[in-house]
Amino acid sequence: MPNPKSRAWSHFDGDRAPAAVALLASCSCGWTGEHVQTIDRLRTIEANEREVREEWNAHAVAAATAPAESVVTDLDLILERLTADDPRAALTIAAVLERRARTVIAAAGEAARAQGDSWVLLGGALGVTRQSAYERLRPRSRQAR
Ligand SMILES: [Zn+2]
Repeated sequence: MPNPKSRAWSHFDGDRAPAAVALLASCSCGWTGEHVQTIDRLRTIEANEREVREEWNAHAVAAATAPAESVVTDLDLILERLTADDPRAALTIAAVLERRARTVIAAAGEAARAQGDSWVLLGGALGVTRQSAYERLRPRSRQAR
């Protein structure tokens, strides 16, 4: 039964309520996606959503990482200074960060895959191709690790 107060497009089946005809990602920050996906009623909801959802996910990842960018910039400056002043201490800290980054990439990659993120999205998040993301994050058997 369609709920006329709902704004969820999947509630409007065209039977007794207005039918959604297209999907377009948009965000409370004012961003709007470029891809307008016309709804094909013969396809599953998932198939209709896929490209719009990926565009949305890319925006959400960019928005979520924006605050971290300044932290990375600050850290970069500190490490640059430390490299000049105390190279051995910089080496130790860089090695710790490298190990930590590997752990985070593996855990976050696994969590993102469990949420259904595509290899294209994971590649975008890592700044590499879909293929490189797959090679880096693909599931491996516990014994192979
Ligand atoms: Zn936004």
